Amino acid sequence: MKTTTYKEVTKKVVDKTTTICDFCKEEIKNKDFRVDDATLECKVGYCYPEGGSATTYIVDICPNCFIDKVKPWVESQGIEFREEEIDY
Ligand SMILES: [Zn+2]
Repeated sequence: MKTTTYKEVTKKVVDKTTTICDFCKEEIKNKDFRVDDATLECKVGYCYPEGGSATTYIVDICPNCFIDKVKPWVESQGIEFREEEIDY
């Protein structure tokens, strides 16, 4: 015979996530149907089929600061951004 007992646990779940731009300190808001998004991160480590480890360096940045601050700096280093259109 199999018996099962249960216990009550208190569990934390994500209620709301707020992301603040590290540059301008404004909240990065995701509005309905907008696709404004900027990602600035670097992952360094190893990933094998059986496991791995890595460190990810992340900066939270809003699209405006990416366009106004990061993009000009990257371009000043001689790098030209590739633009890709999304259409679906
Ligand atoms: Zn910003």
